[in-house]
Amino acid sequence: MDIYTRTLAPRFTKLLAKRESELRTILRSTGDFAAAAPETQAREVLDFKDMAVEETQSVVDEAKADHALEELEQVIAARKRLAEQAYGECLDCGEPIDLRRLMAMPATPFCTGCQDIHEHGRGVGARRATLHLSKGKNS
Ligand SMILES: [Zn+2]
Repeated sequence: MDIYTRTLAPRFTKLLAKRESELRTILRSTGDFAAAAPETQAREVLDFKDMAVEETQSVVDEAKADHALEELEQVIAARKRLAEQAYGECLDCGEPIDLRRLMAMPATPFCTGCQDIHEHGRGVGARRATLHLSKGKNS
């Protein structure tokens, strides 16, 4: 498995910056940025608001905006980790994340295994803890 090394930082900085601007474009077009935006973007949100005169949002747009906002938060967090040289490690288990996964999803905070647990085990904290323990023993 290839893993992230610091020499790849410029490449991922670029990837994340690109993704961030893509997401901001989506959020701008849906006009639903103000409600749940991270505080750091508050200033820009005001500008968006002025531009977002058309308030007729479809459900699809809202779902899209929710999704984009969620990912934007991940991207911002990933850029922070990159700056702090903590990038490329799973936030859950601390293991290096597969480089191919990072290339495909540069903002992901989790390795494949932990992502699975997050997606399928939402709200079942106990099960998650058990899985982690057995995983540690096996490897
Ligand atoms: Zn993990």
